[in-house]
Amino acid sequence: MIIHGFNKTTLLDYPGKLACSVFTGNCNFRCVFCQNSSLVLEPEKEPTISDREVLEHIKKRKHILQGVCVSGGEPTLDPGLREFLTAIKETGLPVKLDTNGYEPETLRALINDGLIDMVAMDIKSDLDGYAEIAGLDRFDPERIKESAKLLMESGIEYEFRTTVVKEYFTVKTAHGIGEWLKGAKALYLQDFRDSDGVMVPGLHGFEGEKLIQFRDILRQYIEKVEIRGTDAG
Ligand code: SF4
Repeated sequence: MIIHGFNKTTLLDYPGKLACSVFTGNCNFRCVFCQNSSLVLEPEKEPTISDREVLEHIKKRKHILQGVCVSGGEPTLDPGLREFLTAIKETGLPVKLDTNGYEPETLRALINDGLIDMVAMDIKSDLDGYAEIAGLDRFDPERIKESAKLLMESGIEYEFRTTVVKEYFTVKTAHGIGEWLKGAKALYLQDFRDSDGVMVPGLHGFEGEKLIQFRDILRQYIEKVEIRGTDAG
């Protein structure tokens, strides 16, 4: 697997666990708020770390670590993902996968084969606004719907997460997401924060009160909706 980043310890990426995080490059989306645009647009120019080296580190630290988070970019696009996850699972550590959900068949196979223990799937928007915020001219909403349904029905631990951007997110978006994902276990809202390397410069986040309004709308449909610190990966 081609690894572009390795965070040896984090308490932020795998809920409730001291984990390490692995970052792949490349993505099939071009989200306007993406904060890893160089990793998405020109992964070949980004430094890499040997997957063997990363695995050695994980093996050595397996008694201290409580999990491994595999993030991106979009990890499901890497042909070496299955092999890498198999090697991690051999250490006995649980794996969390961060994904945009656009590869439902890969996701299904990884779940069925017991190679992942938790999934965090980005929900970019309601289905009407998805293509625009994902930066795609051609977009098949069925693929996203299939991944979301899979997570909601498979019994695997999961969470949905949505980065909220002022220029794109409205009360209608919140109701649209809620109606679509009605009955889901958990959705986390993350306010957008501008930074260097964002795909489309000049976007804004919201003030706290507006986020609370969106949270309360979504709570009409989804069991647990919380506001979390910023993240747009
Ligand atoms: S935010 Fe995630 S899904 Fe969107 S372009 Fe960036 S890496 Fe891809």
